[in-house]
Amino acid sequence: MKVELVGTGAIYTKYNSACTLVNEELIIDMPNGTLKQLLKSNHKPEKIKAILITHMHGDHIADIPFFLKHVFNYIKIDNEITIIGPTGIEDKIVELFEAYRFEDREEIQEFMNIKFIELNEEEKQIEVENYKVNAIQVSHGAEKPAYGYTINNTISCTGDSGICENIEKLIKNSKVTIADTSLREGDHCHMGIDNIKYLAEKYNKQIIATHLRDTTREELSKQEYKNILVVEDGYKFEI
Ligand SMILES: [Zn+2]
Ligand SMILES: [Zn+2]
Repeated sequence: MKVELVGTGAIYTKYNSACTLVNEELIIDMPNGTLKQLLKSNHKPEKIKAILITHMHGDHIADIPFFLKHVFNYIKIDNEITIIGPTGIEDKIVELFEAYRFEDREEIQEFMNIKFIELNEEEKQIEVENYKVNAIQVSHGAEKPAYGYTINNTISCTGDSGICENIEKLIKNSKVTIADTSLREGDHCHMGIDNIKYLAEKYNKQIIATHLRDTTREELSKQEYKNILVVEDGYKFEI
C-alpha cells in the first residue's frame, strides 16, 4: 500500500489538518483545504473511491462538498463514491452543502453517485473496493460516535481520540498507526506525547504522529523515540 499523510496538523497550525491518502483510492478525513492540497500535489482526486470519516468536527469533514463538486460536476466521473462515517453523516454532508449554498439534497441525489455507509456499532468490518476496512469506536469526548479505521490489517488511523482500549486494539491489529497526538499531555478527547510514548513502548510498533499542535510538534521533534515519527505534510511511505 502507498500511504501519504496529506495533512499532519491541527486547526490552528500552518499544516493541513490530519488527512491520510491510501493508494490514491481511499482517504481518511477531508479537512478544509484537502481538495486544493491534492491538486497541488498532482494527485487525481477523481481516483478516490471511498472517504472514511472519523467524526464530524469541521477539521475532518469541511472539504467534502468541494471534493464531491470537483469529481461529479467538474471531472464528471461516472463511478460511485462510498462515504463511510458515523451515523448522521449523510445529513451532515447535506447540511454542509446547504451552508455553503451549493446543491440541495435532491440535486445531490440526482447528480452525485454516492453510497453512504453509516456506523453506529462499536466495531464493524466493511469491504470497500477490495479493501478490508475495520471501523472501531474511539473516545472523543462529547463527539459520539467517533471512529478509528484499520485498512487491510496493515495501517490504522486513530482519528481524534483520548487513549482507550480500542486505540490499543487499532495498534495491535496493524503494522503502522497514524495517531492523534494533539497534546503534550493527553486528555479524554485527544492523545498526548505521554500516551503515544506509552503505546510505542508497549507494542513496539511504528507510530506516526498526526493532528499535531505546534507546541506538541516542537517538543516531540526534539525527542528521539525509536518508533515514533514526526513528519511534514506530504510524507509518503509504502507498506
Ligand atoms: Zn475532533
Ligand atoms: Zn480534529
